[in-house]
Amino acid sequence: AEAHEAYTAARPKSAAIHARAREVMPGGNTRSVLFYTPFPTAMARGEGCRLWDVDGREYLDLLGEYTAGLFGHSEKRILDAVRDALERGINLASVGEKEGQLASLIVGRFPSVEMVRFTNSGTEANLLALAAARAFTGRVKTMVMRGGYHGGVLTFATEKSPVNVPIPLAFTDYNDPEAARRNILAEGDQLAAVLVEPMLGSGGCIPATREFLQALRDATRQTGAVLIFDEVMTSRHSAGGLQARHGVIPDMTTLGKYMAGGMSFGAFGGRREVMAVFDGHKPGTLAHAGTFNNNVWSMAAGCVAMGEIFDAAAAEALYARGEALRLALNGVARRAGAAMQFTGLGSMVNVHFRAEPITGPYAATEAENKLRELFFFDMLAQGIYLARRGMAALSLPVTDADCARYVAAVEEFVAARKPLL
Ligand code: PLP
Repeated sequence: AEAHEAYTAARPKSAAIHARAREVMPGGNTRSVLFYTPFPTAMARGEGCRLWDVDGREYLDLLGEYTAGLFGHSEKRILDAVRDALERGINLASVGEKEGQLASLIVGRFPSVEMVRFTNSGTEANLLALAAARAFTGRVKTMVMRGGYHGGVLTFATEKSPVNVPIPLAFTDYNDPEAARRNILAEGDQLAAVLVEPMLGSGGCIPATREFLQALRDATRQTGAVLIFDEVMTSRHSAGGLQARHGVIPDMTTLGKYMAGGMSFGAFGGRREVMAVFDGHKPGTLAHAGTFNNNVWSMAAGCVAMGEIFDAAAAEALYARGEALRLALNGVARRAGAAMQFTGLGSMVNVHFRAEPITGPYAATEAENKLRELFFFDMLAQGIYLARRGMAALSLPVTDADCARYVAAVEEFVAARKPLL
C-alpha cells in the first residue's frame, strides 16, 4: 500500500490518462500485459534505452518493449529506413523488393526455415503455422505446454484455464521429456503439431533443457507431427535463434518482435514441403491474406535491422552481456541469503522469489506475488523500467554501466526489504 501511495503521488498525469481511458476501454487499455493496479505509467518519449514518462520522470528502459525493442528507441539506421520507405508512399497494395530481401535474410539464418511468410504479429505467425501443420498432415490436434504463451489468443496456463482458441488441444508439462515422449506417442496419428517455446518467455524466462527439446524432436519425427518452435522472443539468442544454440532443429519456426526494427512484425517458416501449402502456383492451397503482412515500413526496417545491425557478432555480444548480468544479480541474491533468483538466458532475465531451482511453470504463493509486485514498484521508484512480472529484455543500446545500475538497484532492494525476503 505504501509503494502504491508513493507511486500514485509521483504520477498525476499517468493517473489522469488512465482515468480517461477507462471510460472507453475496459481496464483503460488494449494490451493486458501493460495493465497493473493502481494504473500503468504512461510514457511520453524514448531515446536509446532511456524513457521519460508523462510526469517527466526518467527511466532506464530494461523492458525493451518485451524484446521487440532490441534496437532501442532511436536507432538512426532504422529511422532512416522507415522514413525512406514512407517517402515512396504508404503501402502500395503490391508485393515489393524488400519483402524478398528480408525473407532471404531470415532463410539464411535459421536452420529450420527454408521458406518464410510474413504476418503482423507473433500471434498470427503461430496461428498460420498451426494452419500449415494441419493442412500438411491432414490432422487437427495441437499439443501445447502447460504454462506456454504464444500470443493474445494462445495462452495455455492449464487445460482448466479458459482457452479462447477453437482448436482441439493436448497438453504436456514443460521440461518433462519422458512425459512428453509418452504423450506424443499416445496421440499418435491424431496429432498435427507440437508447439513449444524453447524458453518460456511470458512464463518467466524458464529455459527448456536440450534433452526436453530433443525428446519433442524424436517423438514428433516418429508420429509425423509437425514440431514448431515459437522463437518469437528467443530468436535473439544467436544469429540462428535458440534452435541453433541447442542444435535441435524443428520443422517450423515462428518469429516476431524485434525483427522489423521495432515495427509491427511476425513471420512463420519451415520445411519447404510444409510451407508449400501456401504456394499459389498450385491449386487448392491455403489462403494467407493480411493487409499489412508486407507493409513497407516493417519490410524496409527489417532489412536494415537483420541485414546491417543485428548480425551474429551482435547477437553473441548481447547474449554475453545478459549472461553476465544474470550472474551478477544472482550473486546479490545469494550473498543476501534471499529466497530470490534470476532465471533466463542471455539478454532475457526474470526475477523469482523462491530459492529452489525453477525448471517449469509453478503456482506462485501470495507472498511471492506480493514480493514480485514490491520489486516492480521499488525498481520504478529507482528509475528502472521492467515488465510488471519482473522481466528485463536488454536492448542493444544498454551498456555494461546500465547493467551495473540495475545490479545496484537490486542490492538496494535487497537491503531495504531484507526482513521480507
Ligand atoms: N509467442 C511468444 C513466445 C511471445 O512471447 C509472444 C508475445 O509476447 C507472442 C508469441 C505473440 O506475439 P505478438 O504479441 O506480436 O502477437
